[in-house]
Amino acid sequence: MSRFFSSKYKELVPYTPGEQPKDTEYIKLNTNELPYPPSQKAIKAAAEAAKRLNLYPDPECYELTSLLANKIGVEREEVLLTNGSDEILNFAFMAFCDEEHPAAFADITYGFYSVFAQINRVPYEIIPLNDDFTIDINSYKGINKTIFIANPNAPTGIALSVDEIEEILKENPNNIVVIDEAYVDFGNESCVPLIHKYDNLLVTQTFSKSRAMAGARLGFGVGSKELIRDLNTIKYSTNPYNINRMTMAAGIGMLEDEEYTINNCKEIIKNREYTKRTLKALGFEQTHSSTNFVFAKHKDISGEKLYLELKNRGILVRHFASDKICEYNRITIGTREQMEALISAIEEILKENKYEEQ
Ligand code: PMP
Repeated sequence: MSRFFSSKYKELVPYTPGEQPKDTEYIKLNTNELPYPPSQKAIKAAAEAAKRLNLYPDPECYELTSLLANKIGVEREEVLLTNGSDEILNFAFMAFCDEEHPAAFADITYGFYSVFAQINRVPYEIIPLNDDFTIDINSYKGINKTIFIANPNAPTGIALSVDEIEEILKENPNNIVVIDEAYVDFGNESCVPLIHKYDNLLVTQTFSKSRAMAGARLGFGVGSKELIRDLNTIKYSTNPYNINRMTMAAGIGMLEDEEYTINNCKEIIKNREYTKRTLKALGFEQTHSSTNFVFAKHKDISGEKLYLELKNRGILVRHFASDKICEYNRITIGTREQMEALISAIEEILKENKYEEQ
């Protein structure tokens, strides 16, 4: 830390992104990206937009916002596009949390929530998950805090039903409830239609997962016009040109080719079910993940050892050191070939591990 760094950030512990190693070509199953490229339409549109990079992008993001709003069945003024969904989540902390409105989120959830709380100097309550990693919705009722729930949750992959979310919304009518639906497209129901019923609901989604655009940084929030207006106040006070021209064009390209996204999601779900089945047969315990990753542990090998052994074999998965989940690894679902390579490597590791034990 330099002697110039503001003392207000002294205690800040930044978010640790998944490894992006440059030494070897790994099979990357550690950051929940889609293994397929964006649609050709998106790639062409981005290349075309690159020709006009001398000009600022449209700060209103008019065309993309209109198209997206139309696709998800809301009005344009009920949507705000951001630089990844991380940005809309940060905006929500800035707009809807303070000393009088502390934040609340689970102990095991997306790691950025606590970082956003810290950087915005927002007090927060950590609500523990049940022992089986499910969310106890009763612990969110009437708590008088701004609630952040990843649904499905990460890294557990477990989803609450829309009815359960609705209960939380009803029981907190004077507080904002943010539902982070980064992984909703892999077989889950979205809460977006509820924004017309509950003015305290903000839903966030991303183009980084199902829409194969993690590298372009595109996310969005959906809520009442008033909430979106508040979030726009934050946006126009920080970075009005938050979506660059190429990303905007690629986003439109992806939305015009929804069939491609739907087919990719179907493929990932198929590969996920194959992976779950195979890991189960190999003795892994897993959560009920309805996302593009599984969360698994094995009785014979520690989470860390499995992570390291896989890394030695050129396969990257995500291991979290925190006590409650250190025996698990979060494994992104890739192509069928990638998952077969993962399974062969695990079989080999388990065999060697047994051999070592004798
Ligand atoms: N929410 C959750 C639960 C996530 O796991 C992630 C990324 N890994 C995000 C939000 C943010 O994703 P992005 O900024 O790429 O949209």
